[in-house]
Amino acid sequence: MLSGKIAVITGGSRGIGAAVADKFAQAGADIAVISSGSGELAREVCGICSERYGVKALPYRCDVADFEAVGSTVAKIKEDFGTIHILVNNAGITKDGLIATMKERDFDAVISTNLKGAFNMIRHCSPVFIRNKYGRIINVGSVAGLMGNAGQANYAASKAGIIGLTKSVARELASKNVTCNAIAPGFIRTDMTADIDESGPLLASIPLRRMGAPGDVASLAVFLASGGADYITGEVIRVDGGLAM
Ligand code: NAP
Repeated sequence: MLSGKIAVITGGSRGIGAAVADKFAQAGADIAVISSGSGELAREVCGICSERYGVKALPYRCDVADFEAVGSTVAKIKEDFGTIHILVNNAGITKDGLIATMKERDFDAVISTNLKGAFNMIRHCSPVFIRNKYGRIINVGSVAGLMGNAGQANYAASKAGIIGLTKSVARELASKNVTCNAIAPGFIRTDMTADIDESGPLLASIPLRRMGAPGDVASLAVFLASGGADYITGEVIRVDGGLAM
C-alpha cells in the first residue's frame, strides 16, 4: 500500500508514533523515526520494523521545537533516503496546570513542541514536496483542540493551532498535489495517559466505553497516507470512540 514511499514520523519512539512507524513499515514504507530522547527506543522501533517488514528504517535524534535542528535533520533524511513523501507530525508533550497558576515556561514548552514543532517540520519538508509535486502531511492534534479541556489550556491551544495550521497548509499546497490532514485522538493508552484511570466518569463519557489503542490512530494515518485518501485534504478526523461528537 505504501511501498516505494518514504515517511518521516516525529515522536516515533513510543506510543502512537511507534504504532504509526510499525503500520507504515508493514504497508511497505521506508521510515525515518524522529525522537528527542536518548534514541534507544527509536533504534529499537527501527530494528523491529526493518527485521519484520524488510524496509529501510533509521532513527534520528532531534528536538522538533528547534528550527535549525529540524532543518539539518530533514537534510540528513533526504541524504539518507533520497527524498521524502509523507510527514507525520506526531511528537507532543503535556504540561498540565490550571490557568490561574500555569507557569509561563510550561505554556511556552507545550506550544513550542506541539505547534511550532509541526510548523518546523512542514517548513523544512514542504520544499521537497513542492519539488516532487507530491506530499502527504498528517498532523496529530487532539479532541482537546476541538473541545478545550480544563487544566490543559496550553495543550488545547497548541492542538487548536494544529487545526488552523493543517487547513492553511492544505489550502496553500493543494495545487502542488500536497495534502494536509489532521487526526484528533481522544483518550489513547500510551505513556501520556498512564495516570488516567480508565473507569467511572471517563468511561461513561466515551460512547464506545473504552480507551483507544495506538493502533487505532495509526490505522487512520496509513489510510490518510494511501491512495485511497488522495482527494481528502484540510480534514480533521476524530479517533475518540465518539467522545467529542
Ligand atoms: P507519548 O507516548 O508521550 O510519546 C510522545 C512521543 O513524542 C515520544 O516518541 C517522544 O520521544 C516524542 N517527543 C516529545 N517531545 C519531542 C520533541 N521535542 N522532539 C521530538 N520528539 C519529541 O505520547 P502519545 O500519547 O503517543 O502522543 C502522540 C501524539 O498524540 C501527541 O502529539 C499527543 O499530543 C497526541 N495525542 C495523544 C493522546 C493520548 O491519549 N495518548 C490523545 C490525543 C492526542 P522522546 O521522549 O524521546 O522525545
